[in-house]
Amino acid sequence: MINEKLKQKIAVIGAGAVGSTTAYTLMVKNLVSEIILVDINKDREEGEVLDMCDALSFSETNIVKAGDYKSVRDADIIILTAGVAQKPGENRLDLITKNKAIISSIFTEVGELKPSAIVIVVSNPVDILTYLVQEISGLPKNQVFGTGTCLDSARLRSNLSKRLNIDSKQIDGFVFGEHGDSEFIAWSTVSVGGKSIKEILSLDEMKVIEEEVKNEVYKIIKKKGATYYGIAMAVTDIIEALILDQNKILPVSSRLDNWNGVSGVCLGATAVVGASGIIKPWPIELNEEEKNKLQISANKIKEYL
Ligand code: NAD
Repeated sequence: MINEKLKQKIAVIGAGAVGSTTAYTLMVKNLVSEIILVDINKDREEGEVLDMCDALSFSETNIVKAGDYKSVRDADIIILTAGVAQKPGENRLDLITKNKAIISSIFTEVGELKPSAIVIVVSNPVDILTYLVQEISGLPKNQVFGTGTCLDSARLRSNLSKRLNIDSKQIDGFVFGEHGDSEFIAWSTVSVGGKSIKEILSLDEMKVIEEEVKNEVYKIIKKKGATYYGIAMAVTDIIEALILDQNKILPVSSRLDNWNGVSGVCLGATAVVGASGIIKPWPIELNEEEKNKLQISANKIKEYL
């Protein structure tokens, strides 16, 4: 299976901060043979390609090139990062009108994709745009999903790791729901070295952490204008699951069908990710309070759909 990875062609649509950092991370991790960057801003696109080509001889990636929408048609994996990003004071749902129009126009231009293609939606609001792409891409729904709460769950692990001074790889647990203000930490899923977090933290500490994790994005955007390292690694982690057929359990945004009582929306919730995309949902029984929060998040997304 590992040799198969060298056949993978990845198209990154949107060569801004998130798209170019993701492409570079894939190259550094030696995960793919060919990366195509597509951006409406041709200077940006070509500049990123030239800069990345300087690094090619250090990587197992063979080709990095600029492409047009047609060159996306035979890609194995498409990463959608095109659109506008949050500015200080904006939330992710504020981006909906502009990014919906951008994503729709991209799919009109791209046309038919390879039947086995997998699309990973990163642009925000990711849950709503994932739903949209599932409707317009012509691909089976399990081949189109969003990054969901992968980044938020990583922020949770980093936060707990720093606070408890424990290796973040020994911290398990998830943030679920909208990748946005109605997301929540499912504390019943959080454990550190096999010990439930409820034995380690007080309820007050949990409330503080929940706010910190949710507001991390606003803090970073206020200080440096964009967030991209964390999401680039989160997307790379998903791509590794696809390319190496890892059957990894990840809180991606997929169309839910009675996941803790929620159906018909795309939200961050655990699913098994392997070579063909979403292999199956991975239901985790949440407690009543968490189910309620998931429902609130779903209702919020449904209003926008
Ligand atoms: P950016 O402004 O740096 O890059 C966006 C790029 O999209 C620009 O280069 C722009 O020219 C390009 N673009 C616009 N319209 C296009 C089109 N029709 N075709 C091709 N390219 C087009 O923004 P960024 O910081 O890279 O963020 C990109 C998106 O990712 C935003 O929507 C942001 O909110 C989102 N994001 C998501 C997560 C997550 O966890 N899902 C995390 C961080 C950022």
